[in-house]
Amino acid sequence: MGKKDLNTGLKLGVDSKWQYSPAPESTSHINLKKKYDLFIDGKWVAPSSGKYFDTINPATEEKIADIAEANEKDVDKAVKAARKAFGPWSKLPAKERAKFIYRIARLIQERAREFSVIESLDGGKAIRESRDVDVPLAAAHFFYNAGWADKLDYAFPGKKPEAIGVAGQIIPWNFPLLMAAWKLAPALACGNTVVLKPAETTPLTALKLAELVQEAGLPDGVVNIVTGAGSTGSSIVNHNDIDKIAFTGSTGVGKIIQKSIVGTNKRATLELGGKAANIIFEDAPIDQAVEGIINGIYFNQGHVCCAGSRLFIEEPVYDQVIRKLKDRINTLIVGDPLDKNTDIGAINSKAQLKTIKDYIKIGKKEGAEFFEGSCSLPSKGFFCKPTLFTGVAQSNKIVQEEIFGPVLAVQTFRSVDEVIKKANNTPYGLSAGVWTDKGSKIFNLTSQMRAGVVWANTYNKFDPASPFGGYKESGFGREGGLHGLSAYLNLN
Ligand code: NAP
Ligand code: MG
Repeated sequence: MGKKDLNTGLKLGVDSKWQYSPAPESTSHINLKKKYDLFIDGKWVAPSSGKYFDTINPATEEKIADIAEANEKDVDKAVKAARKAFGPWSKLPAKERAKFIYRIARLIQERAREFSVIESLDGGKAIRESRDVDVPLAAAHFFYNAGWADKLDYAFPGKKPEAIGVAGQIIPWNFPLLMAAWKLAPALACGNTVVLKPAETTPLTALKLAELVQEAGLPDGVVNIVTGAGSTGSSIVNHNDIDKIAFTGSTGVGKIIQKSIVGTNKRATLELGGKAANIIFEDAPIDQAVEGIINGIYFNQGHVCCAGSRLFIEEPVYDQVIRKLKDRINTLIVGDPLDKNTDIGAINSKAQLKTIKDYIKIGKKEGAEFFEGSCSLPSKGFFCKPTLFTGVAQSNKIVQEEIFGPVLAVQTFRSVDEVIKKANNTPYGLSAGVWTDKGSKIFNLTSQMRAGVVWANTYNKFDPASPFGGYKESGFGREGGLHGLSAYLNLN
């Protein structure tokens, strides 16, 4: 087997011909129900409308299960359960609360294989990523935040940290389990209770997590999971007994939420879209940088808010980098998410595939030069080859707008000032990458980039201790580290 990037699980420059081919991950040991109700007040309850929707496997277009659709009444039930549980949960000695959270972390580890397969089935991501990134990192978030639960008084000296109350948490489809962990773990550690809504296309791992919450013995009502579409999310946002909204998703919906909570006492953190610049200087370790660019844009099919979707190459190394990049793209395997050799799995939904294809059409129309990987695509399911546009202009739509797919837009630069100006020139400010041998360039660049996270000579590294969040239209507030906990506390 070839070497792997330890953080993302992506293969490091290994020609597919030389890959050992293990059997695809089996689904026989996966324990999934045919029909999922809502998880409210520690019980599984049918939706009051009686309505269910399908969640499908985007790699086969086949239905996996019926999922309950929560309406306003169901959300109200969940909020009431969370409110009732809030008093006792927030007053529990913190070290006792922590024990429940540790238990969830350990149960995720015990079921890691099952969670990985379900995540890949429901959302389309390559099993190597679910197994090496999403699931272990989700467990790590529960461990990390559990550790803080009884140390908050020391973490915020001079303050009296208090739980906020009932948190409404709404998450997207790109990292379903991981985003649930980012949201639940700090909220619970601080003593809040929660109503969480997963995305319509990827509800299964959050529902599996509800089973673990039951198994871990959390008191009823502390965690409630309601499934449904945008209207369910909107019922959470507009419920008058929610104290805090934690949202991760598109900038468009983030703006709607911001407007809805004006004049209420709700607190909010919004983790929104991005259009990150990945910058390669002439003095960079080029082979390492090429791997970082590949990882930056094609990891998780490009469905990553911090994806390095804009590449800036310093002119003297442009030809060399592009040649190496194209060679590397031609080795990437797109296909069955359950195949352990797959690099790029299925696009999450038909609608997202259309969005990506529309942007590719726009890019071609805008006059950019198009390149795509030489791999073949499965005949069924939603798949897209890794693609690259060169010769793009700063004003092009594919440079300014988030595509959320495997599409990389490449530009060149001649000076540090020029690249900083161009890199900062989008509505977003979530993340960036810089590749250079010179520490001074890294410091200069990071201090001038309007990006919440800047990676140097690496990309897409995540850790529960690192705060993550954006500037400008990428939202506000930070998740991870102590910053992430403080978002769930009143610090008076
Ligand atoms: P989305 O359409 O905004 O949806 C996000 C969540 O909000 C989903 O659960 C969605 O439900 C729900 N929702 C939709 N309309 C709503 C409304 N009016 N009120 C309340 N909730 C509503 O985003 P997405 O397409 O799922 O996710 C992709 C976006 O997330 C990208 O822009 C990406 O950059 C961003 N993202 C950001 C971060 C970060 O940390 N900054 C991390 C990951 C993703 P349904 O799915 O059921 O419609
Ligand atoms: Mg699905």
